[in-house]
Amino acid sequence: MQVPTVQIPQPTGVRGYIHSIETCGTVDGPGIRFVIFTAGCPLRCFYCSNPDCRYLENGKQVTVDELMEEIQKYTAYMNASGGGVTVSGGEALYQPHFVAEIFRRCKALGIHTALDTSGYCDLQVAKPVIEQADLVLLDIKSFDPEIYTKVTSVSLEPTLAIANYLNTIHKPTWIRFVLVPGLTDATHNIEGLADFVATLKNVEKVEVLPFHKMGEYKWEQLGYDYQLKETQPPTPEQVQTAHAIFRSRGITVV
Ligand code: SF4
Repeated sequence: MQVPTVQIPQPTGVRGYIHSIETCGTVDGPGIRFVIFTAGCPLRCFYCSNPDCRYLENGKQVTVDELMEEIQKYTAYMNASGGGVTVSGGEALYQPHFVAEIFRRCKALGIHTALDTSGYCDLQVAKPVIEQADLVLLDIKSFDPEIYTKVTSVSLEPTLAIANYLNTIHKPTWIRFVLVPGLTDATHNIEGLADFVATLKNVEKVEVLPFHKMGEYKWEQLGYDYQLKETQPPTPEQVQTAHAIFRSRGITVV
């Protein structure tokens, strides 16, 4: 009987720009994760914690080979915890070839891959990356298109197109929604998102992320105008109200 040849991926020299790395992340996917925060993002979210990663050139250029060398030091933690590698941003889909190659190399080593994205990307460009991801963490920052554009400065449609595509291909997906009092917390907005998510059969859960101001000092350092100075994080009751809206549609929410 002929034994199938195992294809060991060879170094390819593919490179990209990263903002930073977190070696033992616990919030961006299951288990303990090696999280790569890429540089470059076309959105301008009011509450962005990493305004210093807006531009590619603000990042550090690395090769996928260098990243893989680093990732492999942590495989024991990842394997023991059911974790893996998450690529986040910035906007991970801003460098699709780079991210697809990271995922391809991880998968060849049996490492679980998660893509954390706003979904603001042409679907055809995103498809090869999505194909290599075991899990997608899709941030839907608002369901009301006007609020979405106000919060992010871009339009909602690409994100919804990606959400629908992920459903079509049955890709395991977590939806993330940042709850910002006075901005995204309108009842019609949360209900609209909950109704939409209820139509998606691939969504394992919704994460309601309470707004925080941890990135405010970076905005000041960079001389950017932080427009949420007066906005307070949501109260536990406001978070519970949002949870209840998702739960009432039979959606798992955390
Ligand atoms: S998508 Fe993420 S990185 Fe980009 S502006 Fe929004 S919060 Fe910041």
